[in-house]
Amino acid sequence: MKAHKKDHTTQLINVGGQNYLTLLGRAYPTGERVWSSAIASDTGRIQNEFLGWMIVIGVGSMLLSLITINAMVRRIVRPLLQLSEQSAALTADTLNQDSIPEMTAAPKEVRQLAKTYSELIERLALSWNDQRRFVSAVSHELRTPLTIVQGYLHRTIKRSKSLSDDERRGLKTAEEESIRMRMLLDDLLDLARGDSGQLQLNQEMVDLEELVGKAADLSQSHLTDHRLEVVNNIPNHETSDALADPDRLQQVLFDLIDNAAKYSAKDSLITLVLNPNKHGIAIDVKDEGIGIPESDLPHIFNRFYRGKNSSESSGTGLGLSVVALMISAMGGQIHVQSKEGEGSCFSIILPKLTSSTISR
Ligand code: ADP
Repeated sequence: MKAHKKDHTTQLINVGGQNYLTLLGRAYPTGERVWSSAIASDTGRIQNEFLGWMIVIGVGSMLLSLITINAMVRRIVRPLLQLSEQSAALTADTLNQDSIPEMTAAPKEVRQLAKTYSELIERLALSWNDQRRFVSAVSHELRTPLTIVQGYLHRTIKRSKSLSDDERRGLKTAEEESIRMRMLLDDLLDLARGDSGQLQLNQEMVDLEELVGKAADLSQSHLTDHRLEVVNNIPNHETSDALADPDRLQQVLFDLIDNAAKYSAKDSLITLVLNPNKHGIAIDVKDEGIGIPESDLPHIFNRFYRGKNSSESSGTGLGLSVVALMISAMGGQIHVQSKEGEGSCFSIILPKLTSSTISR
């Protein structure tokens, strides 16, 4: 037996070629000592096992921490994303309907942020409603005197024989401007009525073939720079009757035709197409104009929104919001397809007249 290493309590000894690690268990006053020993190679194995376990425990706790951190981040990030999406989708039209869903699972700070955001939307909605009421009252007050001025100008231009060319031109410009202002006031009033649920429609059975033809003829009489064409794709055996308010629908078509002319070159073609549609009857107003940039497409029906393509032309950005309001009040839908440089197509879909819609 050979002792390799020695201190007062442990020794590494070799017995028959096998290494043992001995540990002093007890020392008696008589000088006798009790040692316990273990095969040295076992110590290595135990060390390896210990190391293995340490690695498993280390990796395990790292994974656990990652999972916990991920769950915490999700708890914070998800409601923040929700808030951000909601803010991005917020428009003047949705201010009154938007409310932040309860975020009970979110941390206190995020819940506080959501609450502040909710209060901000409420304050915005209140001030927006005040503004709407103000615009509605002013439009109402201005409309009557403006109609009188317009009527007076019209009569003077028509009846007066003694006007010089300059005076006639001046009065004509004044008349055109008063018509433009009245149309703007009408748009504002319609929107205000729509907001307060007071928009009144006369829904009835309308022969769309006849109405579209009439709208095209009337528009052509003042759009001398453009060609207007009507195409009817509704089969002979099918009806072209739909449920709509005829005056409002005509107003909508005038607006879309005016836009088609405004945003396209002289002498280009504007086509009104009647198509059968699985939801009813579609009226397409197509032009070969400048088209609408893709980034503007989702917004063009919003109030006061004017596309990037509109800088060359006058306008208020209200026309399409009124069009959309009227069509949805008639129970229809409106869609747009457009490609820059190729033209635009506005499709109105009106519910077909069926026995169930008549009885309603
Ligand atoms: P505007 O008074 O600006 O014409 P509208 O509400 O009628 O307001 O239209 C909103 C925007 O939609 C316009 O500013 C324009 O960018 C785009 N737009 C509407 N109609 C057309 C069209 N036929 N061709 C190209 N752009 C159009």
